[in-house]
Amino acid sequence: QPVAIVCVGMAGSGKTTFMQRINAYLHGKKEPPYVINLDPAVRSVPFESNIDIRDSVNYKEVMKQYNLGPNGGILTSLNLFATKIDQILAILEARAKPNPNNNATPIKSILVDTPGQIEVFVWSASGSILLDSLASSFPTVLAYIIDTPRTSSTSTFMSNMLYACSILYKTKLPMVLVFNKTDVQDAGFAKEWMTDFEAFQAALRREEESGSFGGVEGGEGALGGGSGYMGSLLNSMSLMLEEFYRHLSIVGVSSMTGAGVDEFFQAVAEKAEEFKRDYRPELERRQ
Ligand code: GDP
Ligand code: MG
Repeated sequence: QPVAIVCVGMAGSGKTTFMQRINAYLHGKKEPPYVINLDPAVRSVPFESNIDIRDSVNYKEVMKQYNLGPNGGILTSLNLFATKIDQILAILEARAKPNPNNNATPIKSILVDTPGQIEVFVWSASGSILLDSLASSFPTVLAYIIDTPRTSSTSTFMSNMLYACSILYKTKLPMVLVFNKTDVQDAGFAKEWMTDFEAFQAALRREEESGSFGGVEGGEGALGGGSGYMGSLLNSMSLMLEEFYRHLSIVGVSSMTGAGVDEFFQAVAEKAEEFKRDYRPELERRQ
């Protein structure tokens, strides 16, 4: 049975580039995946997709016709597309089985790219329908893509982890945290912060002392240095996050160079097993 990998993450974190990279990797292994693009607003997709939301909904027309802004346009496009989910599942189920009429090998993975605006996908009814439908048919793993260089201060790191945490609770799917762009900045600091609470606290103190806390240079005000409100809030939150981290796999990758992609697929394989063991019984119980 194929594993569905759904790429989510903030705009610009590198979802599409990562999709391109893992798609190329699987082609290289002669295990071509089934590729779905759910971003209606993307201008060009750098990989060949089997199903593209843009083939069935015209985002620009949707915006015009319903008099919507960009987010409303994406949301409405997703809604229109979600009405076709049964057809899509039927196609996927067919491609997951050996076909006696041709020699097509059954697919082993389904890759899904999502809109740049993460909230439109994760917090919308149609996003949930698409995810839940996928998860009711295939082991489904979320790849949460993180822009590593832009998350290297303790406060941006913490915000990003909290967001990942909220998505985990919303979707109730296993998650791999993908620290992307390691060609620009190594993900070692993140792995350390996630396994060693002391190390995170030390970084917190260093940033407070240097006054660059919260990305605010010389910030000695409300958000700035000292043992202020933000410092103690971050401290308590990191205790909560320790529990969250225990449920995650963490990998550092560069979508640019391809570094770390092997580890990513190892993590996905583990999470797919976890899905079958823990998540599927839970899904069935809820239905
Ligand atoms: P998306 O909005 O999440 O789909 O992000 P994109 O895939 O469009 O990438 C956003 C920007 O980050 C682009 O300029 C990419 O070239 C760049 N980018 C993506 N992955 C990497 C990476 O691994 N290393 C570097 N240096 N840049 C990357
Ligand atoms: Mg994209």
